[in-house]
Amino acid sequence: MEDRKLVYDYSREDLTPLFQEWNEPPYRVKQLWEGLYRHLWEDINDFTPFSIELRDRISQDFTFQAIHPVREIVSPDGETHKTLFYTRSGNPLETVLMHYKNRHTLCISSQSGCGMGCIFCATGQMGFKANLSCGEMIAQVLYYNRILAQDGQKLTNIVIMGMGEPLNNFDQTIKAIDFLNDPQGLNMGERRFTISTVGLVPQLNRFSEMNRQINLAISLHAADDDLRSKIIPINRKYPLSELMAACRKYSKVTHRRITFEWALIRDFNDDPGQAQKLVNLLKGLIAHVNLIPLNPTVLFPGKPPRSERITQFQQYLIKNHIPCTIRLRRGIDIQAGCGQLATKNLSEQNKLC
Ligand code: SAH
Ligand code: SF4
Repeated sequence: MEDRKLVYDYSREDLTPLFQEWNEPPYRVKQLWEGLYRHLWEDINDFTPFSIELRDRISQDFTFQAIHPVREIVSPDGETHKTLFYTRSGNPLETVLMHYKNRHTLCISSQSGCGMGCIFCATGQMGFKANLSCGEMIAQVLYYNRILAQDGQKLTNIVIMGMGEPLNNFDQTIKAIDFLNDPQGLNMGERRFTISTVGLVPQLNRFSEMNRQINLAISLHAADDDLRSKIIPINRKYPLSELMAACRKYSKVTHRRITFEWALIRDFNDDPGQAQKLVNLLKGLIAHVNLIPLNPTVLFPGKPPRSERITQFQQYLIKNHIPCTIRLRRGIDIQAGCGQLATKNLSEQNKLC
């Protein structure tokens, strides 16, 4: 494996002493960051403001190649674009770009695979391979910004909802957001980011205490412990009472709305009883519910409900003053829908891609 450091793992503060050691003035660090994040340069030879000596010096210690694309799939309507990458250590990850009317939203991975084992999720079915570093997360964003730049566009939103559980890779995830948020980085406002979590209570409390403007989404999917534990093993460790207490704390500290995600599974969590329990759980919270009709995965036999059932569930919540939307089914045909991201082998095994 490549033993040079990945340049996107380093902040300006980290780089400054190194440049000092090389007798380079501090503004060179600023120029390096501008090159990486404003000009989206990906090769040391693009850095023409630098002398050849400095370019050599940098490339002795650092690499710019974090992840390499091995497969690209674009949905037939052109609205969804998925890339399978490998990290330098050979771990797979996937990234999905979704075009909406005025938005380009990128769904990035925080881990290769996931160790949480939610049974309805393709990434959970694949198991945990590795945490991604901050630089490996940033590289997914830069890759797509380079593609969009060809049409004079750029990413407007980033959701950390790809492979992996971001709160199990907390520090690297926050660091990646910090770099992208930095005015000398991509300068993307914190409100443009969303972290989606299965609900790891200690990390959620840590996140609340940081009082950031980053959006939070909680993958709830069931409103009582018996049902939730059947599909989400971590619910046994952090039951709903603890998870909801952490959500209330977040709400109290940040005054921000929380999105609750609910993958609707036919005859499992799509009945009025669950809708009613959900309303009770969310009492007093500024909440929004996102209903996602279950996307098919290889190892889970569940199905999405019929459309009347989905609308009924939604109407019940709306009647009870909980804003609720049905998530557009995006990218199902290219296995890029929620919970469908998995390695090539798992997808090919079922001839889904
Ligand atoms: N680990 C994080 C983020 C990645 S999963 C989390 O669990 O929140 C992104 C979202 O896809 C989560 O809301 C997850 O519950 C949902 N999801 C997983 N599998 C799904 C499936 N088969 N159909 C619909 N949504 C699914
Ligand atoms: Fe991991 Fe999220 Fe999938 Fe659960 S739903 S296995 S936490 S990626």
